[in-house]
This record gives sequence, C-alpha cells and structure tokens, in this order.
Amino acid sequence: MPYRRCGKSGILLPAISLGLWQNFGETDIQAVFRKTLLTAFDRGVTHFDLANNYGPPPGSAEENFGQLLRTDFVGYRDELLISTKAGYTMWPGPYGDWGSRKYLMASLHQSLKRMSLDYVDIFYHHRPDLNTPLEETMAALRDIVHQGKACYVGLSNYPPDLAQKAAALLRAMGTACLIHQPKYSMLVRTPEEGLLDVLQAEGIGAIAFSPLAQGLLTNKYLGGIPADSRASKEHFLKSEMITAELMEKIDRLNNLAVQRGQTLAQMAIAWLLKDERVSSVLVGARNSEQLVDSLKALDWLDFTTDELTLIDTILKQ
Ligand code: NDP
Repeated sequence: MPYRRCGKSGILLPAISLGLWQNFGETDIQAVFRKTLLTAFDRGVTHFDLANNYGPPPGSAEENFGQLLRTDFVGYRDELLISTKAGYTMWPGPYGDWGSRKYLMASLHQSLKRMSLDYVDIFYHHRPDLNTPLEETMAALRDIVHQGKACYVGLSNYPPDLAQKAAALLRAMGTACLIHQPKYSMLVRTPEEGLLDVLQAEGIGAIAFSPLAQGLLTNKYLGGIPADSRASKEHFLKSEMITAELMEKIDRLNNLAVQRGQTLAQMAIAWLLKDERVSSVLVGARNSEQLVDSLKALDWLDFTTDELTLIDTILKQ
C-alpha cells in the first residue's frame, strides 16, 4: 500500500481508505463485513471512515465497528486511523443536527461510547451549517482537539470559500484543519472548480468520497440492475439514475478500462489518484472481493494524455 501525505501534516494516509457508510449496519451480515475490514487492514488500508449516522439504522456502523475493535482489532488501535463525523440528522429535537457546539460535543461523546474509544483520530464537521456562526462550529472542533477527544479535525462538503474561511478561523484558534472530504469521481467533478486549489494552498489534504459514484462507475449496471446492488435497494442510489444515456458513457469508459487491463472500478480509482492533491480515495465495499478488486487499481495508476482526453470527451457527451 502506498501512503500519501495528508496536506501539510504529519499524517500519511493509505492511497485507498475504506468507508463504512453502507454495508456495515444492522441489516448487513457480520461475517461479511468483518472479512472486508480484516482484508483491508491486512492489505495496508489503515484508515477507516465512519460517521454518527452510518448504518442503517444510524449509529449501527459505529456499534458494529466498535465490536470488532474490541475483538479482532485488540492491540492494533495505534496502527489505525479512525474518523467519525457529525453534521446530519442524528436524533430528534433541535440538538441532534447541523453545527452547534451542543450537537458536535454530544454526538462525538455518543460515537466514542459506541466504538468504545477514548478518542478518534479525525473528527469532521459533516456538512456546512449556514445558520450557526462558523466561529461556534470551529471553536467546538478546536475544543474537541484540546479535550483530547480527537487528534485532528476535518471538514466535509464545504464549498471552497467557506472551507477557506473555516481553515483560517481554525488556524487563528491554533488548530489546523487536517483534511477535507468532498464527493469526487469521474462523474462528479465539482472539487476541480476551486476546492482542490484552496485545499492545496491551505495545506489541507483531500480524501475523495464515493469515488465509484456509489457503484455507477463499475460494469455492474451495463446489463440491468443486479438484485444485490445498491440501486436495487432504492435507498441512496435510485434506479432512475441508471439511464440509457449514462450507461452509454459507462460502456465506453468500461471499454477503455479493459484496454488498459483494468476493471472500470480500478480505472475510476486510478483516475482520482493521478492528482497528487488527492491524499486518499475513500471507497465503499459490500464484500472483501470488491475491496480486493478496488485495491488492484494501485497496480496501474498512469494515464496517457490521449486516455485522459478520451475520458473527458466521453464524460462531456
Ligand atoms: P463508492 O463510490 O466506492 O461506492 C461503493 C459501492 O460501489 C459498493 O457498495 C458497491 O456497490 C460498489 N463497488 C465497490 N467496489 C466495487 C468493485 N470493485 N467492483 C464493483 N462494484 C464495486 O463509495 P460510497 O458511496 O460507498 O462511499 C465511500 C465512503 O465515502 C463511505 O463509506 C463514507 O465513508 C464516505 N462518504 C462520505 C460522505 C460525506 O458526506 N462525507 C457521503 C458519502 C460517503 P454494490 O453494493 O451495489 O455492489
């Protein structure tokens, strides 16, 4: 596993990290996700990404992960980089959502309990909250670090201007912003419109989430919607997103991947890693086989100019 420096910090991230948003909840099979996590760690994936609301139901991914930390991962805590977040709806009433100090402090307290941890390595504000003063949210992040409940803090889904303001506030408060987690893939290129430049200038690492666009950037939907796929669950990925127009592009991208000797999933991950500003690509995996397939992206990261041009042409059509 190659490790990349996360912005201007002491932290090295695996080029591929694993997220527990889906596939690690109450309705998933423990033997399957246990194998995924153990396979990941054995192959050098030292970073696992969680959030208060991952499941379903919310909280269950942290609970399941906590159980494995207490069993399989006993003795390995210091070899792991564990992150969690708060920012989306977590519990009823006015204090279980957004970006108040009250919510962030209470939520992290709950997350630590669920995972049986004294501290997480990274605590993120999960999404911007335009109704709470940015100063309040950033001061809460700083205090969380000062209390020893997180080693570092990060931001997710912040647009470039707000990310810059937040980073400046944190710096003035004496706590650097370590990392930013944007949605970034061949199908979602928004971070190229300013965010990656801001992060580089501020010395903040970027970790790209949903690099396979939840599975769209694989060959699985070319012949319809498989029964066990995310789109079949109609939860976060809706079947209406599998359009003929999109599948035509995916088919062309898939042909290019095959020519390169890769699966489309591997090419999609390699495509993100071609930019050195991307410290890590944060994949999801429904089982260890998918993870192993994705990790093979690291075998071939180079692109010719012609290949990059062809990818842009396919995506723009
Ligand atoms: P991906 O884009 O990697 O999608 C994962 C899905 O793609 C899998 O469930 C599986 O779909 C399919 N897949 C994965 N690997 C392969 C493979 N090699 N071959 C074929 N299919 C494959 O990422 P996610 O959308 O799951 O997000 C990853 C992580 O990013 C999350 O776990 C979370 O940590 C983070 N995240 C952060 C957010 C934020 O707001 N900060 C929001 C969303 C995610 P299937 O199950 O259909 O087989």
